[in-house]
Amino acid sequence: MVTVGPACSSVEILTDMMKSGMNIARLNFSHGTYESHKESLQNIRLAEKKAGMTITVIQDLQGPKIRLGILPEEGLKAEDGDEIVLNTKETKYKGGDIPFVFPGLQKHLKVRERLLIDDGRMEVQIHSIKGSRVFCKVIEGGVIKSRKGVNFPDSSLRIPPLSEKDKKDLKYGLSLGVHSVALSFVHKAEDVILLLELIKKYEKNLKIKSEYPVQIIVKIERREAMENLKEILEVCDGVMIARGDLGLEMPAAEVPLMQKRIIGLCKDLAKPVIVATQMLDSMQECRRPSRAEVSDVANAVFDHADVLMLSNETASGKYPLKTVKVMNHIIRTTERSAYLSDQTIFDIGNHGSVDISLAQTACVVADDIGAKIILAASLTGETGRLISSYRPFLPIIVATSSERVSEQLNISWGIQPFILLPCKTIEQLIQSSIKHILKYNIAEKGDKMVVVAGEPVGHAGNLNLIEVRDI
Ligand code: PGA
Ligand code: MN
Repeated sequence: MVTVGPACSSVEILTDMMKSGMNIARLNFSHGTYESHKESLQNIRLAEKKAGMTITVIQDLQGPKIRLGILPEEGLKAEDGDEIVLNTKETKYKGGDIPFVFPGLQKHLKVRERLLIDDGRMEVQIHSIKGSRVFCKVIEGGVIKSRKGVNFPDSSLRIPPLSEKDKKDLKYGLSLGVHSVALSFVHKAEDVILLLELIKKYEKNLKIKSEYPVQIIVKIERREAMENLKEILEVCDGVMIARGDLGLEMPAAEVPLMQKRIIGLCKDLAKPVIVATQMLDSMQECRRPSRAEVSDVANAVFDHADVLMLSNETASGKYPLKTVKVMNHIIRTTERSAYLSDQTIFDIGNHGSVDISLAQTACVVADDIGAKIILAASLTGETGRLISSYRPFLPIIVATSSERVSEQLNISWGIQPFILLPCKTIEQLIQSSIKHILKYNIAEKGDKMVVVAGEPVGHAGNLNLIEVRDI
């Protein structure tokens, strides 16, 4: 997954990145203008044609990220032990208090709480609050610059999950035709439900007709989200472990543990999960990643992440294409290792569900008979996601009649979706799929495949058969 920004938004670079392993594009609405995002999307559409691929486009909403206001270009220097005053009523520095653009925020803050400024480069502690003025002592000093983000590791912020900017951005993103929306700083399941309602309303207003709404990806980056994880996961379509903010809002040493916990729960619920932030951070400046970064990428694969994300590395770094190639190489090397293929099937316990049982059995059969692919007929994509969550380490070919479903399935591990025109019988479905498989060299004549489908065909939620076929 590639964050598209000025460093990589040309058709040429995008095409090369797609040929080198990119299959998801992230438009980050914390940065850029509507014009720049629109142009990026047009270029993505051109590049995907050139590369012969379908790219899933995710709109990442900024969410209630709290930032400083406008400060002088050179910033303001603050030394350890200094006193600074943040003012939640100001938007621009006029020589006194530091603007902290969020009216009323002081009501959520308490004396002795810490604030982290600019990705944790500075730390201050509140010692008193008077009206809109928050008096702080500088614990770790630095230079305070315009528009830098502020994190609140000790506070419980009860602020609305979607700002006015987010709503406006969402409307714009939907009008551009994004496939998924990522919501930052989620606190609880209700935040997701609110976003889904807005999406449905806006899609209706925009006259976007689709049987399935745009997917919602929750960004886990707050303590409250960790506390409400299961409820949140149940109502979303996918998860991003947003390690940048998460590692500031919670102790950074706990991030690797949270990564494992979140991925584990996502596997249990068959929700795709993205590991994000600083994966190959040093490649913004260097041609080679640090060995620790290589290890981090490989370990996210071992943890069973579905997607690995690049942020600044591709959006504004010096070597966006090289970074994609390096990440792809690490992923391939890791996935080929015996260490990983030894632990293909997850034991998810006894759910008494036909879907879960058939999806899991398909993986066991495929492994046992040396099948080359699993073919799933899946209207909603759900069967594909279930199979993917067991990591069969084989291509999972998902046949769906919904364009939107096919566009959204890239975020699940190993799935290669394709559009199949409605069929009347299973035999028709299998024969048409075989044609597609041979045309795109996904497997060869004579290879074995395991088919998972439901009869009668064309209905959602009626998975009831597994078949083994020679292609
Ligand atoms: P961001 O999210 O880049 O939008 O802040 C990712 C993160 O916090 O890690
Ligand atoms: Mn974030």
